Amino acid sequence: MKDIKTMDTHCHLQHNWFDEDRDAVIALAKKKMYFIIESGANAVWSRGAISLSEEHKGFIYATAGLHPIDAQKLSKVDFEAELDWIRQNKDKIIGVGEVGLDYHWEKDETMQALQRERFSQFIALANEINKPIVIHSWEGEADAVDILSREAKVTVVMHCFSGSVDVLLKALELGYYISFSTQILASKNHRRLAKNTPLEMMLLETDAPYLGPNREKNMPWNTLLAAKKIAVIKDVTVEEVVKVTLSNAKKVFWI
Ligand SMILES: [Zn+2]
Repeated sequence: MKDIKTMDTHCHLQHNWFDEDRDAVIALAKKKMYFIIESGANAVWSRGAISLSEEHKGFIYATAGLHPIDAQKLSKVDFEAELDWIRQNKDKIIGVGEVGLDYHWEKDETMQALQRERFSQFIALANEINKPIVIHSWEGEADAVDILSREAKVTVVMHCFSGSVDVLLKALELGYYISFSTQILASKNHRRLAKNTPLEMMLLETDAPYLGPNREKNMPWNTLLAAKKIAVIKDVTVEEVVKVTLSNAKKVFWI
């Protein structure tokens, strides 16, 4: 089968696992892919995502946000300064994220409440600057969808969604996009979620360097492996999966 060009709507090229081969990975990605969205999961990566997008204009796009565990660690003043920085750089990013809730790494209820408070502030920011919002919701999927349903006025992307089919259906009813990663290769739950998600509401991502198909370092072009799996689940061609998810991604992020 000939090579099919794909895209990656969520990865972390700034991770130190890419320190030895970042330039080579980007060069190869340019041959194999239409575009990559670099996710700002902390203050350093958000700034770096913008630099990468300026260096690779029209190929790498940036989002800016704070992973919930990073967000909860900041003082109120520092957190709000970060929101301000995003506000000031809104024209250099295509979305707010990743932001959200992480009850997997944070079990303390007071800290989870702080995560929810800061998540709400991020939603308000996305509404204000009118950018799609990319959600991390590990083990907090039900709360995340509940908060979004009341507060979000912009397009919502559930990144690496790993919740139940019930919460998935609620998210779909609200019109949220569900982003599938290479997790689908190893996980029965993700295959079940894919079965319940119309292709028209799907995005493809890797979360590279995380979530390698065989637990190795993941690469952005491995979205093609996820697309192949989805093609089998949906009984359509890989070309169709890539075509529809590509047009979804362009629509969501105004690319
Ligand atoms: Zn991520």
